[in-house]
Amino acid sequence: MTDLRTHAEEIHEQFSDQLEIDVEDVESRLDTLVNEYKVPLEEARRSVTNGYLDEAGMERDDLGGGGGNEHVELADIDTAEQWVDVTAKVVDLWEPRSDSIAQVGLLGDESGTIKFTKWAKSDLPELEEEHVYDLGNVVTDEYQGNYSVKLNRTTTIEEVEEDIEVGDDTRTVEGALVDIQNGSGLIKRCPEEGCTRVLQNGRCSEHGEVDGEFDLRIKGVLDDGNEVQEIIFDQEATEELTGIELEEAKDMAMDALDTTVVADEMRAATLGRYYRVTGPTLGRYVLVNDLEILDEPVDAEQALIKARSI
Ligand SMILES: [Zn+2]
Repeated sequence: MTDLRTHAEEIHEQFSDQLEIDVEDVESRLDTLVNEYKVPLEEARRSVTNGYLDEAGMERDDLGGGGGNEHVELADIDTAEQWVDVTAKVVDLWEPRSDSIAQVGLLGDESGTIKFTKWAKSDLPELEEEHVYDLGNVVTDEYQGNYSVKLNRTTTIEEVEEDIEVGDDTRTVEGALVDIQNGSGLIKRCPEEGCTRVLQNGRCSEHGEVDGEFDLRIKGVLDDGNEVQEIIFDQEATEELTGIELEEAKDMAMDALDTTVVADEMRAATLGRYYRVTGPTLGRYVLVNDLEILDEPVDAEQALIKARSI
């Protein structure tokens, strides 16, 4: 029974600020599941915790880690669902895409950068660009091999005076180019000063209908057999990658009365080939500065294993 009691105390501790519950109640819920219904302990814990989350109207991310977190450097974050403390500068803020998100952007420290998300219902103060903060109790997350941190209602935010020199987070990745995503090829950008947004059907999401400026870009995915990495080629890198220059791309689109022929042509020329690219990391992308064409799969054995598993 003492084992269940310990688990009950841990669960109780996580909800002590939000719910009026007592340890006995938690323990008896666990006891019913484990001893009556023979539910494995971990599953019982999850079930009981979810029950309290519902009662409190909370999400799993709102739960604290119970203090005593490790203070880590951003580049060392390589596991999801860890509760950690970081000291970081807000390098960039983006427009959140959802009402559930209050702020989204990029944090940086000496070791590199990482994306962060702050939930709207966390009721935390606004973070400002270029300011440095001690962030206590943030939770790590992972999506397709890229890590981020989430600020939730248990997170503590304290601005600090010291400045941080944000580290060079240039990365080199290699693998087969397995996908070229929508929004690649010949695109048009908003000509308004400082905007450069990619137009959708001739419209900028900020400035409405504008006379766009042509540009080349590829949003691609490299797969090394183990994991995938999203990469972006700017005009120069796209021309180097595909051998198709901007003027030529415009002619192609003009002849076909369709800009999508450019991306199709680029796909045909590059998909399945192996590349090594180097450049700075921006959010989940590596921005390609250097490009090298490889003859062989990086790790033929890994690629084969992967191929067999599909
Ligand atoms: Zn615009």
